[in-house]
Amino acid sequence: MTRPPIDDLIERLDRLLPQTQCGQCGYDGCRPYAGAMARGEAGPERCPPGGDPGARALALLLGTAPVAYDRARGEHKPAQVAVVIEADCIGCTKCIQACPVDAIVGANKLMHAVLDPLCTGCELCVPACPVDCIVMEPAPQRAQAEQTRSTW
Ligand code: SF4
Ligand code: SF4
Ligand code: SF4
Repeated sequence: MTRPPIDDLIERLDRLLPQTQCGQCGYDGCRPYAGAMARGEAGPERCPPGGDPGARALALLLGTAPVAYDRARGEHKPAQVAVVIEADCIGCTKCIQACPVDAIVGANKLMHAVLDPLCTGCELCVPACPVDCIVMEPAPQRAQAEQTRSTW
């Protein structure tokens, strides 16, 4: 297979990644990881949210042997979204700073809320909350999409 130009390859690899922006691959987000793969600096096994189907799809595009995803990087979980327990939120804004996709709204000392359609389920806001008032819940619509993905 002739490899496409690097920008094109990065774009196509990025499109295969779940866009969770969780950093479990060891890069600052999905696109930086796509760039590292395209440059031959990283293999296709580093993304837990993509799971085994994701790793296989990346390997196929890279023209390398199919691999399972690296379990040491994290668990492959069903799609989830963050929910703020409003009664306990002290409005400290730490979750907003931690969120890579601006899915949390709120102002200083005011209750915060997660914009459900934007939340990728990356969990980065959970440890950032000083009062433990963010919980992860299943995302039914995305769970269905994920099921479709895993049939690749
Ligand atoms: S582990 Fe996967 S979903 Fe998370 S940032 Fe890296 S490529 Fe994106
Ligand atoms: S709200 Fe939390 S879980 Fe959702 S994308 Fe932002 S940091 Fe990640
Ligand atoms: S980090 Fe927790 S307490 Fe602070 S604004 Fe976010 S949800 Fe509220």
